Amino acid sequence: AMVMVFSLAACGSSKTDNTSSDGSASTEAGKKIGVAMPTKDLQRWNQDGANMKSELEAAGYKVDLQYANNEIATQVSQIENMITAGCETLVIAAIDGSALGTVLAQAKDAEIQVIAYDRLIMESDAVSYYATFDNYMVGTIQGTFIRDALDLENAEGPFNIELFTGSSDDNNARFFFGGAIDILQEYIDSGKLVVVSGQTEFEEVATPNWSTEEAQKRMDNIITAYYADGEKLDAVLSSNDSVANGITNSLVSAGYTGEDFPVLTGQDCDITSVKNILAGKQSMSIFKDTRTLASQVVKMVDAIMQGTEVPVNDTESYDNGTGIIPTFLCEPVFADKDNYKELLIDSGYYTEDKLK
Ligand code: BGC
Repeated sequence: AMVMVFSLAACGSSKTDNTSSDGSASTEAGKKIGVAMPTKDLQRWNQDGANMKSELEAAGYKVDLQYANNEIATQVSQIENMITAGCETLVIAAIDGSALGTVLAQAKDAEIQVIAYDRLIMESDAVSYYATFDNYMVGTIQGTFIRDALDLENAEGPFNIELFTGSSDDNNARFFFGGAIDILQEYIDSGKLVVVSGQTEFEEVATPNWSTEEAQKRMDNIITAYYADGEKLDAVLSSNDSVANGITNSLVSAGYTGEDFPVLTGQDCDITSVKNILAGKQSMSIFKDTRTLASQVVKMVDAIMQGTEVPVNDTESYDNGTGIIPTFLCEPVFADKDNYKELLIDSGYYTEDKLK
């Protein structure tokens, strides 16, 4: 049986007020912080942005919150405007982690500090800090889940699996995929797990923009090409929920139901996916409580603005090409049909009626 226990206590408390960590009153009231988010399409970024805004405002800051519709040029011009408008710290969840070098050089010239939010911004020495959930651990939880669900240690197999990860311009995707493959590779090597399509390289299994439609198309194509003659899929690795949703759509139209539904991973506990988990059309997800990440980043912003020590807990994992970026890692948590109530409802993240 699978036993996985992960603590929720990785991030600090969500208390935010007008006092700095030494208890003195903030003198930073009214200063402006820019928050750049990738898209409103995905539920989590709406929550991230809303949490950041309300917590920063509660701490006395003005907030310029922007969503870029997953368009790189839009995000660049939003950040330019934030610099011109006098934002003193920028918090950025990049669309393309490698496309912000030029605009961030302007931020650096203006002595504006930059925190990379959730996704690391690459090849820019303007990035001062990074805050995210432990992305590699997300992947190992997913890989471990597949290993245990198929009982790869004991069962004879072989089992058929297909692999899906996220957008190749998102540095996180390499960590998610790498973490999962580090668990699964030995079974692929031994032949207990068979990737029937043969598609195992990062670039082959990437999903542009983390798009549900792209994932569905690729799963459809794989089923048509490799699983048409009665060959059954036993598992699909998916790095997140938007990709898992496309895979689920494809599997459902290919006729998979009930007991036969392949083991399928996800991440974010998006509402669609939690519903799918309850309906047996996705096996698990990863809960990343965006409230804790937002609280943590607000603490980092406040420390930057007050000139006090910025809280980090990892100074070796994330090199953005210009050197190691000091990072605060929050802990991702395994979620499935057995613990979703406690994690998502009892914690106040969702109300029960949202999942109906
Ligand atoms: C985030 C995931 C999210 C994905 C798609 C990643 O960078 O870490 O939580 O599912 O982007 O937006």
